Amino acid sequence: MATLGSRRSTAEVIEKYHFNFQKKFGQNFLVDSNILDKIIESAQITREDCVLEIGPGIGTMTQRLAEEAREVVAVEIDRNLIPVLEDTLSAYANVTVINADILKFDLNRLVEERNGGRPIKVVANLPYYITTPIIMALFEKHVPLQSVTIMVQKEVADRMQEGPGTKDYGALSLAVQYYAKPEIVTRVPASCFMPKPNVDSTVIRLTRYENPPVETADEAWLFAVIRASFNQRRKTLVNGLTNAGYPGIGRQQVEEALSGMGLALTVRGETLTLEQFAELSNRLSGRRKKSG
Ligand code: SAM
Repeated sequence: MATLGSRRSTAEVIEKYHFNFQKKFGQNFLVDSNILDKIIESAQITREDCVLEIGPGIGTMTQRLAEEAREVVAVEIDRNLIPVLEDTLSAYANVTVINADILKFDLNRLVEERNGGRPIKVVANLPYYITTPIIMALFEKHVPLQSVTIMVQKEVADRMQEGPGTKDYGALSLAVQYYAKPEIVTRVPASCFMPKPNVDSTVIRLTRYENPPVETADEAWLFAVIRASFNQRRKTLVNGLTNAGYPGIGRQQVEEALSGMGLALTVRGETLTLEQFAELSNRLSGRRKKSG
């Protein structure tokens, strides 16, 4: 099977297998070899690496990853793509294709089995309908990771790397920046995909921090506070957090915590830094009433 990466070679595979694109799986295949080069280069893959690819499609990027890495594991949900991948990846002995839903897959076990629990690299042109759940699952489940190099919708990449006071700053920015350092690699116009999506894309690399940049007594509680603070974007943080109804956390507790930090009672979530959210959640932590 020839090397993939062009519009023509992709069209040939689609034709050979009478493949029908499934919109519900976010199938927009990359058909631009320059963008492929940039993704591979920025992922900094070496012969030591075990790479996880989420959604290999017909195997375009998988071929390139297999040439650089020690081992590639590609998880694809669409059963119809499995015979295609067997064909397009037949020349690579270091690739394993798994037919599964990435959101239901035990990635910690995979890393244990394939890489002795050492951090892996994730590289993917993500299905856009589940971008945020995939990123959050990788981080919140503490999958051992070195980096995540992904193609995402342009607006989502912007949200990941924005700071306080901008319209794109929110719970996703804070979660990503707690776990990793985000860097935009390149912008990608819709014309680089088959079929052409309605949105432009961006490749972004998230390099996992060994230790988060802020200290928190309870990570899950920090994110509960963040989520509640952004739940009602046009409301003040006091209202957002009070309305969340966390036991023991009423208006008075939130106001006291904010005053203690020297912040106005009218602040909105989007003006607080990650450090301030960590301090706020640490201050509120002692006031919580845990159920049971
Ligand atoms: N990597 C290919 C490329 O760049 O041409 C395909 C990228 S396409 C945007 C997204 C891929 O993710 C599709 O192959 C789709 O079938 C697959 N996919 C969608 N949802 C998935 C899920 N929950 N688990 C695993 N793969 C999924």
